[in-house]
Amino acid sequence: MTINNLFIKGVLSKVTLGDDGVIKSVEEISYKGQGLEELSFALPGLVNMHTHSAMTLLRSVGSGLPLFRWLNEAIFPREAELTPDDIYRGALEACEEMRDTGTIAFNDMYFNIESTIRAAVETGMYANVALSVTDRDFGNRSFVSQYLKTVEHLSYPNITTSIAPHAIYTVSGRNLQYLADFAKEHKTLFHIHLSETQKEREDCIKQYSMPPVKYLEQLGIFDKVGSRFVGAHALWLDEEEIQILGNHKVTVVHCPNSNLKLGSGCRFLYTELRDAGVNVTLGTDGCASSDNLDMVEAMKVMSLLQKGTRHDPSVLPAEEVLEVATTNGYRALGLPDMSIKAGNRFHASIVSLNNRIFKNIDLRVFADSTPQERHTTLLNRLIYAGHGDMLMC
Ligand SMILES: [Zn+2]
Repeated sequence: MTINNLFIKGVLSKVTLGDDGVIKSVEEISYKGQGLEELSFALPGLVNMHTHSAMTLLRSVGSGLPLFRWLNEAIFPREAELTPDDIYRGALEACEEMRDTGTIAFNDMYFNIESTIRAAVETGMYANVALSVTDRDFGNRSFVSQYLKTVEHLSYPNITTSIAPHAIYTVSGRNLQYLADFAKEHKTLFHIHLSETQKEREDCIKQYSMPPVKYLEQLGIFDKVGSRFVGAHALWLDEEEIQILGNHKVTVVHCPNSNLKLGSGCRFLYTELRDAGVNVTLGTDGCASSDNLDMVEAMKVMSLLQKGTRHDPSVLPAEEVLEVATTNGYRALGLPDMSIKAGNRFHASIVSLNNRIFKNIDLRVFADSTPQERHTTLLNRLIYAGHGDMLMC
């Protein structure tokens, strides 16, 4: 298969693929200033770093409720009714939606993980699928045998598994330590909801006289799991907590749409976290709070929130938010080299430039631009104006 006239980082190219999807060659084509109708743009494969994929079944449920009421009144009672087959159907729908919007990998947290794994394998996604755990699962520790039984015979090259304590308010300190030991022993990620709301932070201070990150540090969680710690949301943090997260080189996941929908706040400290050495990534969260799994939309909202809340339009430009949604995610999940070059699998989306988003680009300026400038022009339109139809290869 040959993909002609594809802009890769602003360079017009011809990509030849083998039947196995591995890139045979990438050749440069000189761009002569022709119209964009016949051309397309390669968007690197995106990584959705915080999902509950089967929640497509609960899309938009509980709209208008704050997090704790939303969980207890709208979500947990409905989830209690879900069968493994329901979870497979929901996850399959999620994988298809993610592929249609440019995502190649996701980091999931749910129960009945074998259902989600099945959906990910069938749709060719990369995934880390974590078994979500609360104190209710600790009665006889059967979840551990369930997890081990599920992963024992797992030999899909693109799937990894891990354990995910739901949050500090649903898992006791002792059980968090047990799960951190488990993650350390099995070398898995430790994926947890962290400091999502002001209430979570204030309750933690009331109960333990310290905020959530200090509490986890004092339990020894970071010493056990180190950079395999993945904290979803990480919204309500102080300077000292950011420093602790940076010292351990952990990953945090910003989920802007979910935070806005649940009224959790718009105070994600991107620059401070990045500068402290935290691996900042991006996610949508489940469809009950983010309503969709569109990472292009999430990139737009993340970038706009940083510009708006800091009163500075230069913060988090398109190129940098793309790094957050790609390279930083690849690093967190330990994915292989995704760049478009001979010998690698082709993992980009092909975005046609034959639509209203791109059609009024000034071709004289575009033709005289450097590849970097062309890339910036296309990427800005893609992220801020909308992606139209995408074809995942
Ligand atoms: Zn979540």
